[in-house]
Parts: sequence; structure tokens; C-alpha cells
Amino acid sequence: MARTVERCLLCAAMTRITGVRTLDVRAPTSRTLAGSDAVHTDPDYSGAYVFLETDGEHEGVGMTFTIGAGNDLCCAAIEQLAVLVVGRDVDELVADSAAMWRDLTNHSQLRWLGPEKGLIHLATAAIVNAVWDLSAKTAGRPLWQLVADLSPEEFVGLVDFRYLSDVLDRDEALDLVRALAPTKAARIAELRRDGYPAYLTSAGWLGYPEEKVRDLSRAALADGWKCFKTKVGVDIASDVRRCEVMREEIGDLPLMADANQVWDVGQAIEWMRHLEPFNLRWIEEPTSPDDVLGHAAIRRAVAPVGVATGEHAANRVMFKQLLQAEAIDYVQIDACRLGGVNEVLAVLLLAAKFGVPVCPHAGGLGLCEYVQHLSVIDYVCVSGSLDDRTTEFADHLHEHYMNPALIREGRYLVPEAAGYSIDMWPESYAALTWPNGSEWQ
Ligand SMILES: [Mg+2]
Repeated sequence: MARTVERCLLCAAMTRITGVRTLDVRAPTSRTLAGSDAVHTDPDYSGAYVFLETDGEHEGVGMTFTIGAGNDLCCAAIEQLAVLVVGRDVDELVADSAAMWRDLTNHSQLRWLGPEKGLIHLATAAIVNAVWDLSAKTAGRPLWQLVADLSPEEFVGLVDFRYLSDVLDRDEALDLVRALAPTKAARIAELRRDGYPAYLTSAGWLGYPEEKVRDLSRAALADGWKCFKTKVGVDIASDVRRCEVMREEIGDLPLMADANQVWDVGQAIEWMRHLEPFNLRWIEEPTSPDDVLGHAAIRRAVAPVGVATGEHAANRVMFKQLLQAEAIDYVQIDACRLGGVNEVLAVLLLAAKFGVPVCPHAGGLGLCEYVQHLSVIDYVCVSGSLDDRTTEFADHLHEHYMNPALIREGRYLVPEAAGYSIDMWPESYAALTWPNGSEWQ
């Protein structure tokens, strides 16, 4: 492609991926119950990290997120899949990255472990994200800008439309992106001035006692937060109490609740009647992430409370069906559950076609650092709107990142460092490596 030639002339030499290594990184968050919810009662926020070694100046760093046990299995899967990018030139990979993505998700034997779901898809995400990190570092730009600088044709060329074309094909996607292209610069300037709207989850973990929730809510309000989420789903009385406490602290500001898949469909509908007085903006993951029609039934029953899901939606096909079935009000993409940047772009386009806002899942380890880029891309290139949009933030573990997500007055600042913001400090890798890092001694 012309773009490849042009870039390679600018770079004195190509950057070739020469090797791969993985690292099992785990933070002992279960000790404080940070991240606890109705289903995941003791998470140790973890990242299966991959480092793409090169013959150039930079390494590509990527990760996928888990909550502890099994993180080593993700590392093993990454090592098996990564042979598909070792020996390749990064500019060539990115110039035709829909083909790269198709190769990674269609390894003739490994695909049996998915396809495009579960552990093998988490591994795909780590590798795809690492390739994009390497490309952005090589270009000297933050990931969001590398993508936003593409022409509409190049942008749409990053997406594998297989399994989507009955609902959204390349031409229609191109029309969406072209319509917004002339005004991209104004939206970038606006985000650099104002930031991207966010909400706070880390005041309302399920394992936190009431006084801690109150203290954290007050501190967050003082910091300028204007939108909050609490965990629900253990028992009705304690959920009502948690919502009362949050409402007492935050007043009429937007409040969401997250059930983390704990309910049956009928149970969700019944349970939500008890939470009606709290005027929730959305109920998140009310039931199994695979139950598209169940989500639709819940949505019809609990309106005007919205239904949100996506952090466990395995791939773009699940989102296609959730949108076709009018099952959700909010699309919660996850930077690592979907197969990395390329598949996220596919879901952003789907959501724009259906006119449903994207409110990314974040928190965890590194997920805020990732999705800040994806929200910028969504606004600048795909949706062109901030209406009813808000990106999750949890205030944990950012100190480990060389370029952490930055918040001002409850909004993400636009990341400006080159790459995809996922590099940790060397001492953090050393401390959090499982099982021999100093945090685990
Ligand atoms: Mg959630």
C-alpha cells in the first residue's frame, strides 16, 4: 500500500518483530476487597503481559486483563498465538491489520479453543494491542491519534466485516466515518480542553463497609466527580441500603448499579422493582452475558432504567445481536475482552449505526489506560457525540503506569504520550510478577 511505502521512507528502517516474551503480572487487590462484586468476591487484578521484541528502538507492549488465577494460562496462549506476528514488519502488519486480525483469530488449530471467545480471544487482544502499541510508539504518537489521523478508507480498512455484513458492511461504515472526518480537528481540540466524561466505580465496591463508601463518595465529590456506580446483587435489603447511602452522599447526580451477572431474568426484573426509588441510570450485567433475549426482556421490564452490558460480551457478533434485539441502552466495550483495537473499532461502528452510546468498561489493571484512547477515537471518528456517554474509572493501581490515565474534575484528560499507555515501571513489573515478585512474598 502507498501508506506503507511512505512510512518506510520516513523511518530509516523497518521495525521487525524479532521475538516475544510474556509476564504474569498480578496485584493483590483481594487483600482490600477492591474490585469485589456479587460474583467476583476476591479479585486479584492481573494482566497477562506480552512484549514484542524488535530490531528497532521500541518494544510493543500489550496485555489482557484477568482477575488472578488463570493469568498464566493467558500467557501460555499468547506465546502460542504470537508466532503469527514474530518475523513480521510492524508497518506491514498495521497497514493490513484486518488481515492480521483474521490470521490471529483463525489459526487453523488454536481457533478450536474459541473461536473468538474465552481465553484464546483474551490472548488475541494482548497481541493485537501490543502490535498497535508498537506502531504508535514507532510513529511517535498516542494510539488514539495514530488511528484518528487515518483517512476514512484506512480506518474502515482496519475492520474485519465477516459476520457483520448482514447489518453493517464496509460501504455503510465508510459513510459513517466520512461524514465526521471534516470536523475531527474541532472535536480533538474540545477533548484536549475539556477531557472526556467519566464516572467513578471505586467508591462502591461490594466488600466495602458503609462508612468507607461514604468517605470515598465525599472525597470523590470534592475532587469534582459527577457520576457514580455501585455494586448490587447480594441481597435486596443490603442493596437498598447501599443505594440509600450513595443517594444520601451524591444527591441527584447520576447513579448506576452493577449486578455482575448474578440474576436470572425474572429475578432481575423483580429485584429491580426494589431499586426503583433510586432512579438508576442503568443496571449493568443483570444476567448471563450470553443471554441476548434475556437482556431484551429485562430492558423492556425495567425501563426507564437503562440496561448496560459488554465487559463479558465475547466478540462483535454478540454486540451485533444485543443491538439487533434492542437489548441494551449502553454498549460497554472492553479493550481486552474484544480482540483488541481492531474488533473494538468494529463495535464502535455497530453502536453508531444503531445510535446506542458506547460507555467503555474500565477499572481493573490497565483498562482505564486503554479505554481512554478508545473513547477519544469513538468521539472523534465514529460517534461525534458525547450525549449520554461516560467512561468508567476506578482509582486503583495507576501508580504502576509510566503514563497513567489522568482525571480532572471527573473527566479523562486526553493521553499525549506515544503508544497505548500500558507500559509499567520496571520496579512495578518486578514487584507484581507472580508468584515471585515482592508483593507476593
Ligand atoms: Mg461491570
